[in-house]
Amino acid sequence: MIGRRLEGRVAVITGGAAGIGRATAERFLAEGAQVMIGDLNEAKGVALIERLTDEGHGGNVAFSRVDVSQEPDVVRLIDAATDRFGGLDIMFNNAGFGGAIGPITEMSVDHWDETFAVLVRSVFIGIKHSARAMIRQGGGGAIINTASIAGLAGGVPPMPYAASKTAVVGITKHAAVELAEHRIRVNAVCPGIIFTDLMHLGRPDEADAVRKVIQPWPDRGEPEHIASAVAYLASDDSIFVNGEAHVVDGGYLANGLLAVHPLFGGSRRPTHVGITRGTTGQRNDVQRLPPEASPR
Ligand code: NAD
Repeated sequence: MIGRRLEGRVAVITGGAAGIGRATAERFLAEGAQVMIGDLNEAKGVALIERLTDEGHGGNVAFSRVDVSQEPDVVRLIDAATDRFGGLDIMFNNAGFGGAIGPITEMSVDHWDETFAVLVRSVFIGIKHSARAMIRQGGGGAIINTASIAGLAGGVPPMPYAASKTAVVGITKHAAVELAEHRIRVNAVCPGIIFTDLMHLGRPDEADAVRKVIQPWPDRGEPEHIASAVAYLASDDSIFVNGEAHVVDGGYLANGLLAVHPLFGGSRRPTHVGITRGTTGQRNDVQRLPPEASPR
């Protein structure tokens, strides 16, 4: 039974056209919020709004195509939320992709920069402009950033992704301290293995076989598991929770992060180099490495 803890609140969700963001948009709507979704994948965003409208949420949800790594796009997204719904109470900085892959010795600096722009700069920009809107409005707010258990421990590649998520945890803690005087809480959610297109890359059965080996909880992680944790962090039920990296992973981290991630078939040696752009609809740029370029 889902309560109506977010009645009358306005939320912005980035990466809300798919996966964890989409499940959170649905959860927020069910809890009474109005939701502005921002995503780079316009086709998925438009289709989602059509479905949610058919389901009766029409007046309470809208979509804007944004690239979260670009400050003007994020400003436009937040302005769209405040213009359309009259304020901003909740910001969920969630958009993400896999980013740069490959051995450090082969990785391009451009791919590193693109990864940090999408996964880290976006969170700084999202906090900056949502906090401005919340401070202007008065009355506080809740900001939630999607990190990962990959950001809390070593061992899970790709390295730039894991390093980005560590940075998200650091940003969360610093912002929580700085914004507390405005009654703006800032927390991170750290998902484990969650069955989205980004995680299983279209091979859910293969991913599930590996997941069963490394995750103690018997059931697989679904986007809805993260959505309910984010709804808690967005609501007054977590009113004294601030600067927290909230792990939602079925006990995977407690078990120690084994280097057998579903995406990498249990191998420590990278076999490819380049950048993967997740479910954005943008092109991947990945090449197979010659064996001598893949260090042991
Ligand atoms: P997903 O691919 O299903 O959804 C991510 C969404 O973000 C997509 O709709 C995509 O278009 C959007 N996006 C990507 N780059 C963007 C950009 N530059 N601007 C705007 N939108 C952009 O993936 P997901 O699994 O739901 O991932 C959501 C978040 O959760 C990501 O930050 C990811 O790193 C994190 N995460 C996922 C898992 C997992 O197992 N699925 C685990 C830990 C953390």
